[in-house]
Amino acid sequence: MKWSQASDAGLVRRVNEDSLCVEPGLGLFAVADGMGGHRAGGIASRTAIAELVRFLKAHHPLPDDPGNLLVQGVQEANRLVYQLSSSSASYRGMGTTLTAVLVAKEYLHLAHVGDSRVYLLRGGKILQLTEDHSLVQELVRLGGLSEEQARCHPQRNVLTRALGIEPRLEVDGGQVKLHPGDKVLLCTDGLTVHLPPHEIGTLVEKNPDLNRAVKKLVEVALERGGSDNITVILMAVE
Ligand code: MG
Repeated sequence: MKWSQASDAGLVRRVNEDSLCVEPGLGLFAVADGMGGHRAGGIASRTAIAELVRFLKAHHPLPDDPGNLLVQGVQEANRLVYQLSSSSASYRGMGTTLTAVLVAKEYLHLAHVGDSRVYLLRGGKILQLTEDHSLVQELVRLGGLSEEQARCHPQRNVLTRALGIEPRLEVDGGQVKLHPGDKVLLCTDGLTVHLPPHEIGTLVEKNPDLNRAVKKLVEVALERGGSDNITVILMAVE
């Protein structure tokens, strides 16, 4: 497995409240997009990622089928962010997305809450492996909006699920068998608000060097306004 990653504040937000982790020793890669005033969003996203890493390290060596453990780790991260947000007035209402993958044997395990995404790029196609937990995605599901309308919708930031809001949290899990040549992309909505999936797919295909592809993705999001923090992890299966 090779990978490259980048995180950029964008051109509108003063601080970067996204967080990411690359833990090849665990096979763990994750992105989180924090929300909340007084920089609490950054604290939420960093806390969630740190707790997920701590939880998985505490269970090292991981079992052959670590999917459930990954989901439990996200639930633990939720508990901690929720505790923190309940502990102080300046943290009240803070939350974060958390989208994590764990590579074990030839499988990619997923755990996901919020509107950050995982894409699988295989054979010239791009497939979204996660479903956004957002109001606009609900409207897409009910047939009221197209994907493209949802991408540009003024209320696209309204989440229906996030870490830190309730003490218990439903986490989406899943697994995919990886093939040599597959690429996996994790990103926050600062990328996907500016680039539709087919453009992400084309750009990654045109730039086989992972560092270059990641740089290009961030550059294009910035060229188009960089309206939010942008975080990208691109992985390639050898
Ligand atoms: Mg965002």
